[in-house]
Amino acid sequence: MTIETILPLPDIFSAKRILCIQPHYDDNDIGAAGILTQLAKNGAKLFYLTATDDLMGVVDTSLSVEEAAKALKRDQFAAGRIVGVREQSWCGYPDAGEYSYFDLRRDFLKYIRLIKPDFVFAPDAWLTYEAHHDHIQSGLAAAEAVMFAGLTKLASSDPAVDAAYEKDTIQGIALYYTREPNYIADITSTWEEKIAAVRCYQAQFDPEGMEQLVFALDVKSQQVAQGGSFGRGEPLKLLHPSALHCGF
Ligand SMILES: [Zn+2]
Repeated sequence: MTIETILPLPDIFSAKRILCIQPHYDDNDIGAAGILTQLAKNGAKLFYLTATDDLMGVVDTSLSVEEAAKALKRDQFAAGRIVGVREQSWCGYPDAGEYSYFDLRRDFLKYIRLIKPDFVFAPDAWLTYEAHHDHIQSGLAAAEAVMFAGLTKLASSDPAVDAAYEKDTIQGIALYYTREPNYIADITSTWEEKIAAVRCYQAQFDPEGMEQLVFALDVKSQQVAQGGSFGRGEPLKLLHPSALHCGF
């Protein structure tokens, strides 16, 4: 008997409701828009939740806070229309700033209990050499919130959501931006949509930066698919929620 017999790798293509948690406005799409576009076409409802206000990454520093926030949302909605995102939500923590990990986890618990996803996407908090604290915090808080969603004595940030919550089953978590994938999604058929979505994030990349990003994604998507029977891939770590604790 293997551990996969007890904790089988979850099947993302069976997902009907997917909550995609990201530190910044563009992370879900840079990390996973290829597979997410496919899942949306497959009938899954995509919900995006953004942890921070992303204001530090806006390249035009002459914009006021209101103008910058508006530009970020304009880009995010444009990308979301390409990928097939149903709903966008934001926690609004300060980008690259100081905020409480436990406040963040309470917010993620709230949205998991509210949306009742059967699958959660998030950045891999255990990515080696990841220096951006927003990514580490969001990835870890998402994983903990997936593991703890059913612990009803653990309060979220919204007592009304907690009171209405009935236990629900999350089939799995998919970690993107990972160096230890156990699944390479074939994104050949949705590559064009992924790049079109990424190109929407104009507030965060000047033209040169955008071309560098697209080039890096182009090379990486082909590298990870090498040896496979397809042209382009996205690396994911798929885990059963019970595999998020004590090394199972
Ligand atoms: Zn980010």
